Amino acid sequence: QAHLDRIAAVDGDVHAFLHVSDSALATAADVDRRRAAGDALGPLAGVPIAVKDVLCTIDMPSTSGSRILEGWVPPYDATVVAKLRAADLIPLGKTNMDEFAMGSSTEFSAYGPTHNPWSLDRIPGGSGGGSAAAVAAFEAPLALGSDTGGSIRQPGAVTGTVGVKPTYGSVSRYGAIALASSLDQVGPVSRTVLDSALLHDVIKGHDPRDSTSLRDAWPSFTEAARAGLAGGALQGVRIGVVKELNGDGFQGGVKTRFAEALELLSNAGAEIVEVSAPSFEYAISAYYLILPAEASSNLAKFDSVRFGMRVVPEGGGTVEDVMAATREAGFGPEVKRRIILGTYALSAGYYEAYYGSAQKVRTLVQRDFAAAFADVDVLVSPSAPTTAFPLGSKIDDPLAMYLNDITTIPANLAGIPGITIPMGLADEDGLPVGLQFMAPAREDARLYTYGAALE
Ligand code: GLN
Repeated sequence: QAHLDRIAAVDGDVHAFLHVSDSALATAADVDRRRAAGDALGPLAGVPIAVKDVLCTIDMPSTSGSRILEGWVPPYDATVVAKLRAADLIPLGKTNMDEFAMGSSTEFSAYGPTHNPWSLDRIPGGSGGGSAAAVAAFEAPLALGSDTGGSIRQPGAVTGTVGVKPTYGSVSRYGAIALASSLDQVGPVSRTVLDSALLHDVIKGHDPRDSTSLRDAWPSFTEAARAGLAGGALQGVRIGVVKELNGDGFQGGVKTRFAEALELLSNAGAEIVEVSAPSFEYAISAYYLILPAEASSNLAKFDSVRFGMRVVPEGGGTVEDVMAATREAGFGPEVKRRIILGTYALSAGYYEAYYGSAQKVRTLVQRDFAAAFADVDVLVSPSAPTTAFPLGSKIDDPLAMYLNDITTIPANLAGIPGITIPMGLADEDGLPVGLQFMAPAREDARLYTYGAALE
């Protein structure tokens, strides 16, 4: 009830939610009854959670921020949502996002932008600005996000929250409306590292319904975070500062807080070394070919027949006319831009030059990470090059918007895990700054231990 009250009080301004559940209280009452009856409940039983609208929920609309799915209620729950319910968490509602998770500001939502709770004229990051803002504004203690190129970590950075992009394949993608299938990963959003670990323990694990799901037995991330909180965990840890992710174009206040964080890490006994990842210079270019290519293919299913909206042109028309009219009306400008880019990059005659080259860069990024992790335990960088920028300031400049993703995209291209943790406020604007840790694939536990140790 407290969270519903908070939503009623502030969400008119923040607009983190696209839909608020009408069954949350009943679910909570049921958990209470079972607790009173002495049932064994999990550690997060009864905790409310906000769910990014990219995830299918059987009892709430799931639009992925798009007009083309307006009002669509899926016939099944995403695996991660089913896991929340099985662990007795209480879904509070669905959070706002850039349409089909394309964007870094949540301004590309078909349902209007989310505002940053720290300063309502600023972006909350994207694409998962709704989840981050809901947690930052105390509308929900936890949220789920999805991170294809930074959509959990960058909103986390600019709203002063914690966000984790797990190892690719470690959390099920089943029922997560696909953006770019080789990059998409669902993960936790919270206010502390331990909270993210607790949620990660609920959602992790193999899913036979996701063909890229790993079969690993994962360690307890909660224990990993507690080990960090216990103290001494940073002693002797080798930490690499990625030269290419800390240079020109980074805001002064971000650099200052980052330098301080390095000092804290070093004071706690960590050894800080500089590492170079030359291919990162090309990571954004590669990502913005691979992502549109996969997205143009994934979005082909929105054909006016199987899902959501259908627009019949005046006077009727062929099936193709109906598809064209529906996609024209149902998709927003950023989605159309990426469908065109992706279709072009995949077309005969251009495939090798664009998509093929991008895939080669992806391999180089993976090699740079492998070389770095041969020498260090974790890598660090600022989570985003700037603090939250003003709403509207980059909406007409796609390239400027894309460049904001410089710090987050390499981890997605390599499939490795990353976390953002708050590291104070920038001097010049008083807005949150985030610190990113990246670990080798499957070593998500390190993020929790070192993240919690620094927190
Ligand atoms: N800013 C990235 C993009 O626009 C983030 C995508 C994501 O992680 N969903 O592609």
